[in-house]
Amino acid sequence: MSAVLSRQNLFELDREGMECFFAETLGEKRYRAHQVMKWIHHRHVTDFEEMTDLGRVLRSRLASVAEVLPPQVHFDRPSSDGAHKWLLGMDARNAIEMVYIPDKGRGTLCVSSQVGCALNCQFCSTATQGFNRNLSTAEIIGQVWVAARHLGNVPHRQRRLTNVVMMGMGEPLMNFDNVVRAMNIMRDDLGYGLANKRVTLSTAGVVPMIDRLAEVCDVSLAVSLHAPNDDIRTELVPLNRKYPIAELMDACKRYAMSRKGTSITFGYTLMKGVNDQPEHAHQLARLMKRFDNAVQMKDAGKVNLIPFNPFPGTRYERADEAGIRNFQKVLLDAGVLAMVRRTRGDDIDAACGQLKGQVMDRTRRQTEFQRSLDRRADDNRYEVA
Ligand code: SAH
Repeated sequence: MSAVLSRQNLFELDREGMECFFAETLGEKRYRAHQVMKWIHHRHVTDFEEMTDLGRVLRSRLASVAEVLPPQVHFDRPSSDGAHKWLLGMDARNAIEMVYIPDKGRGTLCVSSQVGCALNCQFCSTATQGFNRNLSTAEIIGQVWVAARHLGNVPHRQRRLTNVVMMGMGEPLMNFDNVVRAMNIMRDDLGYGLANKRVTLSTAGVVPMIDRLAEVCDVSLAVSLHAPNDDIRTELVPLNRKYPIAELMDACKRYAMSRKGTSITFGYTLMKGVNDQPEHAHQLARLMKRFDNAVQMKDAGKVNLIPFNPFPGTRYERADEAGIRNFQKVLLDAGVLAMVRRTRGDDIDAACGQLKGQVMDRTRRQTEFQRSLDRRADDNRYEVA
């Protein structure tokens, strides 16, 4: 009975973990671990009996000590514009939403890192759900697995899944180890074989963890900026009180310098009358220019303008079309690379900031988490135990 209770979910393990598990628990060679990873992530097989190149004895050993347990698909729904949304059960009480967005030769999957979010960004509907818990590595990579299986994605062949963005629910840098392990599998040839630059971690700006990420994991970085000055940013992103813009830009500079030649994308959600005025665009342009100079690279910072997506109960409104165009023009005229991210999946509530899932908020936990956030720590103790 105890063997059953402690079965290892192989979705938890990246290449290193898998090799270790095969060597230490099974006394098996490394290439066996590789075979199993391919069965799981390339061929989407979860039943050891179907892993026919393993041999009968190993297959039944595996079945007694391990399992391959993907998230449960509660439902999935196509959007009229080609986007696709899933509601995935993480446990009996919690579910998250995931979105796939095909666009001119690429297919981007938007993946969640937490059930809910504790950062309380004022314009994000995930914030209204509260925070419940971090997702495990298995629950994060399991999302990619579900989409890859649905899309019939095969690495090195017809790739319908070309990019992953950690832009679903949650703050990925607050769930650091699990997110890094999952991103390792996304970038591994034995996993999903995505190039480093095609895996993007998006953060609201957890400064110490940006530095830690630079040390351990080579992926693209997106920073949710949303404001050109601290007054507005603190109102929209409360985390700014702890890590103000100057500190955030310094961390971005260190990240960009550590991987020469790659740029950082700054997300800027445009809200009518809040951060969409021409003076804000000019201020943002100056901030971006200073960043380029600091990194000594043209277009070191790119701006991704996101028209605000409303949700029930929000006090914000989408900036109007002319205002958005004008904002972009100010940036372009100043020599700043700026694009407008067009809303997709509107008809299925799959757009940025609309992902909700089902979150059973355990309020005490939320308070504890918030307290740990408020503590200004110089070390890296930001994950929830
Ligand atoms: N916590 C991380 C990952 C979430 S990414 C981060 O903040 O980057 C989700 C993206 O959608 C962020 O850029 C976020 O700012 C943006 N967003 C949130 N709510 C939105 C809304 N209502 N309309 C448009 N964009 C929104």
